[in-house]
Amino acid sequence: MAEEITYSIAAPVFNEIEIVSEFYRRVKDVMEALGEPWELILVDDGSADGSTEKILELAALDSHVKPVIFARNFGHQIAITAGIDHAQGEAIIILDADLQDPPEVIPDLIERWKEGYEVVYAVRAEREGESFFKKITASVFYRLIYRITDVKIPLDTGDFRLLDQQAADILREMRERHRFPRGMAAWIGFRQIGVPYKRAARFAGETKYPFKKMLRLALDAITGFSYFPLQLATYFGFFCAGVSAVAIPVVIVLRLTGYQAFLGQATTLIAVLFLGGVQLISLGIVGEYLGRIYSEVKGRPLYITRKQNTSSLKKVEKKEVKRK
Ligand code: UDP
Ligand code: MG
Repeated sequence: MAEEITYSIAAPVFNEIEIVSEFYRRVKDVMEALGEPWELILVDDGSADGSTEKILELAALDSHVKPVIFARNFGHQIAITAGIDHAQGEAIIILDADLQDPPEVIPDLIERWKEGYEVVYAVRAEREGESFFKKITASVFYRLIYRITDVKIPLDTGDFRLLDQQAADILREMRERHRFPRGMAAWIGFRQIGVPYKRAARFAGETKYPFKKMLRLALDAITGFSYFPLQLATYFGFFCAGVSAVAIPVVIVLRLTGYQAFLGQATTLIAVLFLGGVQLISLGIVGEYLGRIYSEVKGRPLYITRKQNTSSLKKVEKKEVKRK
């Protein structure tokens, strides 16, 4: 029988050819020093720059490396999910492959796990090499989420965390499509604790999170954990009804006493535009939730993996050579 695995390291990889080998080397150094059985799950999220081949090459050289190859790009959050699904260890550590989450912090997380914590998350005490814009949007985002959602997602944490087998089993059962893993990890409860670390600069390459993806993640986080936006329409409704309840008698009294107030079209126009705006925004918010419900009920698989061995690919190549 195969050796029981104590630690599973899971990392999403999307076009990180310059980084994969270095990441593997640093994880290996850290894990070998711990002296317990480990595995490294590299989830290839539809890379098109040769990262896939690099991962398969590493897997062929070292049996600790277990590749999970996606059929296309499914996104960071789904890649993390696949990493957890495929992990066999007693403790699962999730971290980014770009070395912003230093593998050297893993032993600190493990230490806390050994003390009995089921979820150990790494807290960014400092961030290096990120733009001012990214820092400020991240900061506002985390504080907004903290205020309006029902789960208390710890501030300044990313996806870098350790999950005990029990916690991972619960997360494996949560198959929602629009996912915000760090929110889900907070939602499940258990004993949780943070470990501060210094978030490094990217080892190489560019961020794979353009503003659009960040916005989508933020919407998933808010809709996934809060009904507050849906209630906004109600609050606005009460506000407008309240204003008109006060305004109607005021206007009547002004007219009766002969004041020439609120005569122009401008007032009407402003009121119509304001209410029209509020209604459209409310409709849009309902749409955000509705669209998510629709994609959830379709119940499609969260991700599709390609066969891990490349022999079928090679066969195709051989055929093509023969044809020539
Ligand atoms: N990533 C991924 N799929 C994506 C985008 C990113 O698997 O669609 C991976 C990426 O390779 C990296 C991690 O997710 O390992 C974090 O991405 P990135 O460093 O670009 O995000 P940032 O740190 O800038 O927020
Ligand atoms: Mg990064």
